[in-house]
Amino acid sequence: MYARLLSTSADSGDAAIPTNPAPDVSVSQPAMGTLFEILIYGADATNLSAAARQALALIVELDNQLSRWKEGSEISYINRHAAEEPVRVEPQLFDLLLRSRELWRETGGAFDITVAPLVKAWGFYKKEGRLPPQKEIEAALQIVGMNRVRLDEDAGTIRFDKPGMELDLGGIGKGFAVDRAVEFLRSCKIEAALVNSGGSSLYAIGSPPGQDGWHIGIRDPRDEEKSVAVIALRDGSISTSGAPEKVLEIEGKPYSHILDPRTGFPAKGMVSASAVAPSATDSDALSTSFYVLGADWTRAYYKKHAEVKAVLIPEQASEAKVKVLTINFNSN
Ligand code: ADP
Ligand code: MG
Repeated sequence: MYARLLSTSADSGDAAIPTNPAPDVSVSQPAMGTLFEILIYGADATNLSAAARQALALIVELDNQLSRWKEGSEISYINRHAAEEPVRVEPQLFDLLLRSRELWRETGGAFDITVAPLVKAWGFYKKEGRLPPQKEIEAALQIVGMNRVRLDEDAGTIRFDKPGMELDLGGIGKGFAVDRAVEFLRSCKIEAALVNSGGSSLYAIGSPPGQDGWHIGIRDPRDEEKSVAVIALRDGSISTSGAPEKVLEIEGKPYSHILDPRTGFPAKGMVSASAVAPSATDSDALSTSFYVLGADWTRAYYKKHAEVKAVLIPEQASEAKVKVLTINFNSN
């Protein structure tokens, strides 16, 4: 877990660290390779639990639609057929593909849901990293790029320019699922809830009673028990990229599971990147992007996007105190 809700018990001992009161409802469900969790405050626990369970069921359905691992998923169907012919896409997924393309443009190609051939070449899907020969990286780069994907807005279809292309929603799908669960909970008139995709993306509806927000800690990369920053989240989302357990070792060197699609190599220079944004779809994609693009680019991005904030931990040579850059919070 890379960002976590600070509880009353787990972080005791330091009065300066804000905590959260115990929720009235707490349910969880494995999906998308992680554990989703929904916490709610409110008076009618029976109805609130039923709503939370329905929201989790929605997430399971989305997993069945968006997974590139499930043979029967819509994404698998697209991956098998979109190079042969245009494939019709369910409308909400089509909107997600359009948003992914917009983010690809905004990030100069750093965020790219067509990254799959590169992830494959580096052996990351099998969780066994390998150093691919340069020729293989170049071949993969020929079939990566949202510029090679045709999205026909009138017909609602997708088409790939080249065989071998594939979509991978690993950098945005969990955030999208969180948003859809939030939409459902809001339609049930729930006013204080947290939807958490295993610490990767969290969305806060309102805040716990008497609090300024849900207090979320960003994990210290050197000590899982500690937080490098705590933010009070309210009607917004935070996502973090760069969990230490996702780092792969190749020939004794660490490599990130996030690829830089511009070079074909794993992204370098960041230990973790967190993005705060109005939606979890955006914060998920942006944390992945900030991880690839680094601090200077992130600063330039926030100047155009006042609604986005970032907490970055760059890699550093010395063993000194962890360096944390906060971008677009009140102090800078
Ligand atoms: P996590 O899944 O650990 O929360 P991210 O949100 O950063 O982390 O997503 C990483 C996943 O996104 C990778 O496992 C891969 O499936 C996919 N991915 C890797 N590099 C990119 C990239 N540059 N753009 C979009 N998706 C990527
Ligand atoms: Mg992401």
